[in-house]
Amino acid sequence: MKNAIKDESHSLSDDLFKQGEAFFGEGRCEEAKQCFLSVLEKDPCNTEALNNLGVIIYGEGNIKTAAELFLRVLSIDPYYRDATLNLTHALRMTDQLPVIEPFLRKLVQRNPQDEGIRNILDEIDLLLHQGTHKISMMPVDKLRNVDYSLRKAESIYIEISGLCNGRCLYCAQSRLREAKNFGSIISASLFERILKRLLELNIIDRSTTNSISLYIWGEPFLNPQINDILQILRKNDLYARISSNFIKSPEIESKNLPTIGVLTFSLSGFSQDSYGKIHGASLSKTLENFEHIYEKLRIHSPETLIYIAWHRYLFNESEFWDARSYFNRPGINFTPSIALLTDIYVMMDYLKGNLPENRIKQFSEDLFIEYMNEGLNYITKEFNNSYCPAWDRLAIDETGQLLLCCGMTRYDSDHVLGNIFDMSSKEIWERKQADSLCNECISSGVAHWYHDARFQNPPYPLRKKLNAE
Ligand code: SF4
Ligand code: SF4
Repeated sequence: MKNAIKDESHSLSDDLFKQGEAFFGEGRCEEAKQCFLSVLEKDPCNTEALNNLGVIIYGEGNIKTAAELFLRVLSIDPYYRDATLNLTHALRMTDQLPVIEPFLRKLVQRNPQDEGIRNILDEIDLLLHQGTHKISMMPVDKLRNVDYSLRKAESIYIEISGLCNGRCLYCAQSRLREAKNFGSIISASLFERILKRLLELNIIDRSTTNSISLYIWGEPFLNPQINDILQILRKNDLYARISSNFIKSPEIESKNLPTIGVLTFSLSGFSQDSYGKIHGASLSKTLENFEHIYEKLRIHSPETLIYIAWHRYLFNESEFWDARSYFNRPGINFTPSIALLTDIYVMMDYLKGNLPENRIKQFSEDLFIEYMNEGLNYITKEFNNSYCPAWDRLAIDETGQLLLCCGMTRYDSDHVLGNIFDMSSKEIWERKQADSLCNECISSGVAHWYHDARFQNPPYPLRKKLNAE
C-alpha cells in the first residue's frame, strides 16, 4: 500500500514536471514556475525542478535567488553540469565567479576532457592571479603603443566569397543586399598572392597562426575554386578555418579535407519554421549537405574540429535540446550562443536610439535583447578601457582590401584601410589603430560584447524531455 501511494505521488510529480516544461516551452513562465514549485513541495530535493525554477527566476532578473537555487542543486548533486553552468553565469553577473571553483574542479576530476569547464577554470585563475574578482583589462594606450613593424597577426580572415546565399536578418549581408552590393568571388591566384604578401611581411608567423579563416561575411563554399585554395594553404603548411551555412553542398576533394582544421556549421533552428525564418533555406537539404561532408570528414580527416554554431533566438529555444541530441556524436562540438546584432552599424544605431519602433519590436521578439542590455551595462562599467582583440587580427576582403576588423564590410568605405599590396607591415597596424570608430565601439561596450563569448550564453533552456541526451 505504501509503495502504491509512493508510486502515485511520483507519477503526479512527473506529470507536474512535464506540464511545467510544456508551459515553459510555450513561454508561460509563471505557470511553469507554479508547476515546479508544486513538484518541490512533494519532493524538495528534485534537482531538475530546482534547476528549472532557477532558470525561470534568473529570467525574471532575480539573479541572487536563482544562484541560491543552483547552489542548492549542487549541494544535492555536485556533478550536475547544467546547474554548474547556470550558477557560473549567475555568479559572473554578480562578480563572485570564484565561488564556483570547487564545483568546477569536481567536474574536471570526473571528466578531464571537458574543455568548457576547463576554460572557466582558466578564467578564474586569471581573476585570482590578479588579486581581484574583476577582470581588469590592460590599459588601451599601453598595449597599443608597441613596435608595429615587428607585429604578427594573431589570426587572419580572408573573404574568399563576398557572396552569401543566406538571408539572415541580423547579418551585415542584409544591409549589403539592400545597397545592391552583392560582393564577388576571390580567384585562387589572388588568394595565393595575398598569402604570399602576408608571409613576406612576416605578418603570418606559423608559431602564432597556423590557419587562415576563409570567411568574413560571405559563404566560402560558393567559391568554385575552393579546392585550389585549400591546396594553396596546404602547400604553405597552413590549415583552413571554414564557417558555412551548408545551404550549398560543398564538393571538397578527399585529399583536401585534412587541410580543413576547423569547420563550423551555422544553424538557426531545428524546424523549418525557425530555420527558414532566418536562413531562408530548406533545413532538410541543409542537414543533408552537412551529413555529406561529415561522413567524408570522418573517413578522410577525423581530426578536423567540427563546431555546430547554434544561434539561440527566442523562437528556437524549444528546439535547443533536439538539435543538441542530433549532433551528439563523434567529432562534433555543439556550441550555442545567442544570436547577435552582428552588424556593428545596426548595433550602434540601436544603442543610440536611432532605429524605428518596428525594428526594435522585431529585435525584442527574436533576440535576447534584455540579456544583451544587461551584459552591455556590465561591460561598460567594468571594461570601459579594454583592448579589442580585433586589433591583433587582420580581415581582408575578396579584392585584397584591408578592413578595420571583421565587423566591417567592403561597403563601409571609411573603414576600408587600403590595399594589402600597397602597405608595409607598419602601415597596416598603424592604420588599424588610427580608426576613431574603435573609441566609440569600446566605450559603448560593443567591442567587448562581440568578442567575449562569456557574455553570450544565458542559462540553457529547460530540457524538452527528460534524459534527452
Ligand atoms: S549570417 Fe552567415 S549565412 Fe547568414 S547571411 Fe550572414 S554570412 Fe550568410
Ligand atoms: S573596437 Fe570595434 S570597430 Fe574597433 S576593431 Fe574592435 S570591434 Fe572593430
